[in-house]
Amino acid sequence: MRYVYDYAEDAPGGRELLGGKGIGLAEMTALGVPVPAGFTITTDACRAYMSGGKVVPEGLDEQVGESIAGLEQRAGKKFGDPADPLLVSVRSGAAVSMPGMMDTILNLGLNDIAVEGQARTTGNPRFAYDSYRRLIQMYGEVVDGVAGHRFESAIADLKTARGVTGDLDLGADDLRELIGTFQRIYEEEVGEGFPQDPREQLRRAYRAVFDSWDAPRANVYRGLYGIPDDIGTAVNVVQMVFGNKGEGSGTGVCFTRNPATGEATYYGEFLVNAQGEDVVAGTRTPEPISAMHERLPEAYVQLTAAFELLEAHYRDMQDIEFTVEEGKLYLLQTRTGKRTATAALRIAVEMAEEGLISRGEAVARTDISQLEQLLHPMLDPTVEVEVAAKGLNASPGAASGQIVLDADSAAERGKAGDDVILVLWETSPDDIHGLIEARGVLTAHGGLTSHAAVVARGMGKPCVTACEGLAIDERAGTVTLGDRTLNVGDVITIDGGTGRVIVGPVRLVAPAIDENFGTILSWADEFSRLRVRANADTPEDAAKAREFGATGIGLCRTEHMFMAPDRLPIVQEMIMASTEVERRAALDRLLPVQQSDFEGIFEAMAGYPVTIRLLDPPLHEFLPAPGEATSDAMRQRIFELHEANPMLGTRGCRLGLQFPEIYEMQVRAIVRAAAAVEARAGEAPLVEIMHPLVGFREELARLRELTERVAAEEPSVAYLCGTMIELPRACIRAGEIAEVADFCSFGTNDLTQTALGFSRDDAEGKFLTYYLEHGILEHNPFEVLDQDGVGDLMRIAVERGRGVKPDLKMGICGEHGGEPRSVAFCHRLGLDYVSCSPYRVPLARLAAAQAALVDAGVTALVIGG
Ligand code: PEP
Ligand code: MG
Repeated sequence: MRYVYDYAEDAPGGRELLGGKGIGLAEMTALGVPVPAGFTITTDACRAYMSGGKVVPEGLDEQVGESIAGLEQRAGKKFGDPADPLLVSVRSGAAVSMPGMMDTILNLGLNDIAVEGQARTTGNPRFAYDSYRRLIQMYGEVVDGVAGHRFESAIADLKTARGVTGDLDLGADDLRELIGTFQRIYEEEVGEGFPQDPREQLRRAYRAVFDSWDAPRANVYRGLYGIPDDIGTAVNVVQMVFGNKGEGSGTGVCFTRNPATGEATYYGEFLVNAQGEDVVAGTRTPEPISAMHERLPEAYVQLTAAFELLEAHYRDMQDIEFTVEEGKLYLLQTRTGKRTATAALRIAVEMAEEGLISRGEAVARTDISQLEQLLHPMLDPTVEVEVAAKGLNASPGAASGQIVLDADSAAERGKAGDDVILVLWETSPDDIHGLIEARGVLTAHGGLTSHAAVVARGMGKPCVTACEGLAIDERAGTVTLGDRTLNVGDVITIDGGTGRVIVGPVRLVAPAIDENFGTILSWADEFSRLRVRANADTPEDAAKAREFGATGIGLCRTEHMFMAPDRLPIVQEMIMASTEVERRAALDRLLPVQQSDFEGIFEAMAGYPVTIRLLDPPLHEFLPAPGEATSDAMRQRIFELHEANPMLGTRGCRLGLQFPEIYEMQVRAIVRAAAAVEARAGEAPLVEIMHPLVGFREELARLRELTERVAAEEPSVAYLCGTMIELPRACIRAGEIAEVADFCSFGTNDLTQTALGFSRDDAEGKFLTYYLEHGILEHNPFEVLDQDGVGDLMRIAVERGRGVKPDLKMGICGEHGGEPRSVAFCHRLGLDYVSCSPYRVPLARLAAAQAALVDAGVTALVIGG
């Protein structure tokens, strides 16, 4: 059985056999990139060791011995050489990265004699002694289980004795003394002296690395990230190289492109005559990588050649660690470099333009969640903040402003140009005027699909809901955030992307769809099959949606048009009317305003489909709280309209069927608006009239009849009549419903609520939080579509609906329509479009393209390191 592979050899089995580090070093060797000599003890060896009851498998020690001999030959140094010893590091390296979980031993090969040789050849006795004392410490801890604090307190005692505070204040003689102390500790604990034979050191070291696979912390980590226990780790034995051997040596780190901006220039720093720790410790100021051209010219040429080779091979920006030992360059590590969202876009675009990757790959590797930051103002990431309380991240973006506790003040102060944050227990539709003028919304109650969240997302405003640490005393005009008490007018900052609430202002940075973002989006559209529409209720939203590339409106919620301060009194009059004649009179006054709203939207969306949803919420939402009723009649009406479960009550088409005059008015306004826009602009949108909350064929059949009857009385315009699918029954009976529908749009907010029996208004502040914290559910189903449950209902609806009407237009307009995983699901389901808040349109376009690219076999590269 073969257990050991030199980096210079071809090994079968790739990453699984050699681990991430091993495969990286082997690949670099194969590319001709200079790396230190070394070899990998495979995961096979670890598995054999574990399954054999922690016995070294037969032949392993011999194979390691042979590899060491080969290593000595290539390095031109010998293990234990008293003049210039070969030293190695011994590190774990599993196929899956487990940062910090496993053990490492450096400087292996030093002993009492070799350390003196090391001191002489480096001309740096302090460094040599420090290396040796580190070896004794790491080896003692890892191999023999000596408690780390024994070594640490010896260092502390020595510093006290010398009257110094930092490790760096200890000189060469101090460290030599420390070696003696460490060896005494080792002997006391282990019962024998520190091993002087490098081969013995090595044998015991790799055994210890195998053992560390089974250490409690490694087991816990694997449990947490679902990494199987039986894959085992490989062990890498690598020649140590030193950058502190004089002016011809050095060490550094470099990105092959600028990780902040993406610019195609090398970005990094180095230090002459130094080792890695000096760079990290910050005791000396490194020089920019470009200066290496002068200081270490030959190594610089080798280094840049390596950059080119590695980028060409991995086809992505690399983050590289290197050391120059006496003029000779060694790359110690290469991995895919982390980068900002802006840099990621620029790098992807430029690499595609350079021909290094395809356009499809450029789109596929775009990290959608990272891009979200670019679409909203965000907290300056360089500023450290103190979080006073946390809630749900209900609508991304960040805002600072003065606390106001009611919508009227928010509207008034906002209009006057003040930055205010509206802080409420929860919002209701009649807070809309305050929401419009506030910079952001913070509520103590409500979830991700609560009114505040939906409205804020639609407006692209930051919103934090279900903020547990928030208490409001309206009468006193105070707010408690965690343990801070604030007054109305005090400034707070909310970060709707993370749910953080901070006392005081924080510097924000502005959002941007820059040129590279635009390029990636336009490439994305070349690949996607799903169309992306926006949920938009106003001409401004519609314009924003167009700007972000929406190809239509998938949901225009007309109730928001009823809330504006100039309309609410008419709406209330309509609700209060005791006869149909009175009700129609009020509706006649609403008709022209409603028509003008639609005209604005239709103008912005000419040529594209626009879905208008007829009135959905229960009527009581348009009336004040009982205590604020302005008359006995109103109080009486509020009482009549009261329902224990309004979400399951008289709303949607149930309302439309009982009060047909409301829907008649809306249909009339829609048709008139479309005709007017067509006459004016020469083109109207494709109007889609959508009936909410349909569960029975008969409901839609009657409403279709109403729609057609009213439309026939008006100027002729093309329109479609369809329904939302937002009840489980509608999914199951989609075949029948399709008979009377031109299109269906999944309302997954209500579908989630009704399929799961989770109240969308309450669940998130209550048991759902517990479910998520305790792992009963992995995701909030109001945010990430429950594909197994709700998704399966959708699948049934698609099959049955299209079974009856093969070309039935189907889409989604619940909040999930802008969530990347849910968008991918909708793609697989074969929907025609997704619809989401304008600000999420760019992300949905990318998600739609990525889903199509998966079908075409183009996925993001996953490169380890
Ligand atoms: C839905 O239920 O998913 C939907 C889009 O409608 P609303 O959120 O207005 O109930
Ligand atoms: Mg709904």
